Amino acid sequence: MIVMKFGGTSVGSAERIRDVAQLVKGYQKSQPVVVTSAMTQITNQLEEMARLATTGNRKRVIAKKLAAVKAVHDTAITGLQLDPTAEANLREIIDSKIAILGNILKSVTSLGELTPRGRDLILSFGERLSIHLVAAALNAQGVPAIAVNATDFLVTDDTFNDAQPLLTISKKKAQKLLMPLVQKGTVPVVTGFIGATRDGVTTTLGRGGSDFSGTILGYCLDADEVWIWTDVNGVMTSDPRVVPAARTIERMSYEEASELSYFGAKVIHPRTMIPTAELGIPIVIKNTMNPEHPGTQITPNGDAAAKGAKALTLMKDLAMITIQGKGMRGVFGTASRVFDTMAAAKVNVLFISQASSENNITIVVEKAAGQVATRVLRQAFASEVRAKRIDFVEYHGGVSLIAVVGTGMRQHVGMAGKIFTALGNGDVNVIAIAQGSSELNITIVVESNEDAKALQCIHDALYNTKGKK
Ligand code: ADP
Ligand code: ASP
Ligand code: MG
Repeated sequence: MIVMKFGGTSVGSAERIRDVAQLVKGYQKSQPVVVTSAMTQITNQLEEMARLATTGNRKRVIAKKLAAVKAVHDTAITGLQLDPTAEANLREIIDSKIAILGNILKSVTSLGELTPRGRDLILSFGERLSIHLVAAALNAQGVPAIAVNATDFLVTDDTFNDAQPLLTISKKKAQKLLMPLVQKGTVPVVTGFIGATRDGVTTTLGRGGSDFSGTILGYCLDADEVWIWTDVNGVMTSDPRVVPAARTIERMSYEEASELSYFGAKVIHPRTMIPTAELGIPIVIKNTMNPEHPGTQITPNGDAAAKGAKALTLMKDLAMITIQGKGMRGVFGTASRVFDTMAAAKVNVLFISQASSENNITIVVEKAAGQVATRVLRQAFASEVRAKRIDFVEYHGGVSLIAVVGTGMRQHVGMAGKIFTALGNGDVNVIAIAQGSSELNITIVVESNEDAKALQCIHDALYNTKGKK
């Protein structure tokens, strides 16, 4: 059995959805189970409507946006060229879901308040709609298919917006619900991204979470492989939108893929590898628009013999905070106090570096958390500042973090030197650099306005791509 997950672009129009149906048809013998994202941009639109619903009287703007979401699906239905009965059925399903969504948005607008639970319910509609279009397209190709809402088997905790799956109970339910379908040759078309608590309240797995749904399902059904179909030729040495010379990575390990996605490579959700790691199920990343391309294989050990870097990632628009002062030298535990303070404020630290002179500590956090982080650090170190052991706690917005990732970097000497030289030659100013304790990555902080150039310089130096496209 193969679980096949399709991303938003892959189901972004009638034409794309018909291609997906053709693709799945070609793998009918492998007992495919389909997981799909919302159509492209729909989740963003839902998020925007949810936001608008809490900011005063925006009923008309919301109604317009809802009509636009409906129109995207209506246009796609027309383009699917179904037989009249199938088309009428599909329109009825979509209309009724849009009506329910409209009512939810109205309630939120009246209340003027949106809880994380309410937000998850609104965001879930993208996938609740798309499954029906994909299932109808498959049926039209003569492949028996049925739309399945993951809330019927994927049980999660109640961390709304970022829920964790409860795998044991989900597995039981998934087997019971889906195996009979698979065995009789019906393709389940399952909503990505969403689940439900034990009480049946809708949750989401975090933005981009349909990849995670794919591997959760792979785990639950003990699939042979999980294929993640997207809009690029697999995981590449860098984001091809920023580095046009980026190349496909043939093989990588779970560990490398996790590290890469943790540092911002959007191609896979950071938690995707967790469920498959237990069973060693391979994950394959492939391009719906170029299905012949082999893509990337993600396996427990990847390409163990490979040396050097696997890939470069970029996280934009972050904030950097520097704690500076000669009095910090030799004072035990400053770094751990920084961590404790951040943990208490629930701020995730993406990067930390302490200069060898011990005169300063630099941390990088999400921009949205930057102001809070600076304020709590100033409070935490107030007495040191008064005693002049610390000169200042300084905030600097607009930095980016580049990570060079790969297990082959563990024994690789001279990597940092190579990176520095490349950036020096490219005239890029390096603000800070650190090596992760796992030795799986080197991270570099640069000004955001120089990040693309920095990424290209490092890519050219590590992969010999200067002048190549
Ligand atoms: P999907 O909708 O299929 O889930 P996403 O937009 O979430 O697709 O992820 C695919 C995108 O990830 C690509 O279009 C690409 O721009 C971006 N990306 C970032 N880093 C990488 C990388 N290292 N390799 C491939 N794609 C990457
Ligand atoms: N539709 C969801 C999102 O846009 C989940 C996904 O596409 O992976 O975040
Ligand atoms: Mg994605």
